[in-house]
Parts: sequence; structure tokens; C-alpha cells
Amino acid sequence: MKIGVISDIHGNLPALEAVLEVLDHLGCTKFLCAGDIVGYGPWPLECIERVNDRKILSVQGNHDYWVACSGPDWGISPYARSALEWTLEQLPKDAVAWLRGLPRKMTYGPLSVVHASNALEPPWAYVLAERHLRANFVMQDSTYTFHGHTHVPLLGVHRRGERARFVQLRSMELPPGARYLVNVGAVGQPRDRNPRASCGVFHTDTHRFQLLRVPYHVAWTQKRMREAGLPEPLINRLSIGR
Ligand code: ZN
Repeated sequence: MKIGVISDIHGNLPALEAVLEVLDHLGCTKFLCAGDIVGYGPWPLECIERVNDRKILSVQGNHDYWVACSGPDWGISPYARSALEWTLEQLPKDAVAWLRGLPRKMTYGPLSVVHASNALEPPWAYVLAERHLRANFVMQDSTYTFHGHTHVPLLGVHRRGERARFVQLRSMELPPGARYLVNVGAVGQPRDRNPRASCGVFHTDTHRFQLLRVPYHVAWTQKRMREAGLPEPLINRLSIGR
């Protein structure tokens, strides 16, 4: 079985559609999403609808949570906040309730999916340093966890008796016997200087992971963001993938 794994769609419908087309073409029959369906991008409702229509199972990301549970404790950058306020204005109540009801973690056989880290405290911690990776593996009870949040593809590996370490993520085998934290990067707002949408395919029978970068119509998303009055730095970063 081939499982398509995506994360951080961020309301970018052309990027989501481009990714789903490639994952369909490769024969994926199951789709998992590591959250942040909305925030930043100009098509939040359409992305929620597409995720539902395509029966993509998703966890809740920090932007999904912030939109659904908005309040004075947001503590986020002014650009992200402004995009979240705009997003909230676009969404009907049932879509907001749906975002609120998303789980923080889900398990699918030997796979689990979280947005940020298996260490759910502090919430929405970025796994960027070895100590974050260790904290994740203390709590990771599955062989494979797929996540996102940093918008940068990266692999964390832990073998019993060895230090947890980061490895550059590419298309590679992930054989059982170790535990893996696989950051599949972002569909809708990549930040690794590659503007193409990022996603992955996991082959459950061979334990092979394929990392994919998919071109999409960036200018189309940027045009819609300008029309919506979303912050210019959020628009510009899509061209350079930062
Ligand atoms: Zn995100």
C-alpha cells in the first residue's frame, strides 16, 4: 500500500491540487495530513473541503487551533495573526468547529501523525535541535511518525542504545528496527529555499519513503493573496521558498 503524506497546506489550493494529482498518479490509496490546513493562504475553506472530499485524515496544526480557538493568547507574529484573522472571517461556523475537532495525534497501524512533536508539551514545539528530537522519541510509541510544522523536510532517527540524530531526508528505505520522525515539509509554504510543494509517499510493504517536490502555479496563489489584502511578506516568501 502507498500512503500519501502531506502537511502544512496553509490555504494554498493550487499547491494542494498539484500534490494530490502527483500522489494519485503514483497510486496512493490513503492520505494522511500532519495539520495546518489553514492560515497564511487565500483558500482556507476550499482546502478544508478538499481534505474532506478526498477523505484525507488530518491532525490539528497550530494554525488550525488558533483559528478554531481564537483568543488574546495567540502570541504569534503580526503577519500570521493578520492572516489568521482574515481566515476566521472567511470560514463558516461549521468549518471552524471541524478544525476545533481535529485530533492532536492519530495512529494508523505502525504509523502515527502529529503536527509538531510527539512531546505534546510545550505545545507546538519545533523539532530543530537534538534535545527536541530526544524529547520526541521519549514520547514516540510508533515506528514511524510523520509531522510538519517547520516547513522543512528532515528525518530524525533513533536506534536503541544510540543517540537520536538528524539525517537529511530524501527518497530512502526506513527499515523497521529503528524509530523515525519524518518531517515531510510543507505543501503550501515551503521554507527550505525550494518553492515547490513538498510531500511524501510511504510504501508500507517495502518501508520505502519517497520525498517529492511538486511545482505549482505560485503566481496564482500570490495574485489571490494580493486581492485578499494578505500581508506582502507572506506573498513574497512563496516565490523563494523561505
Ligand atoms: Zn505550518
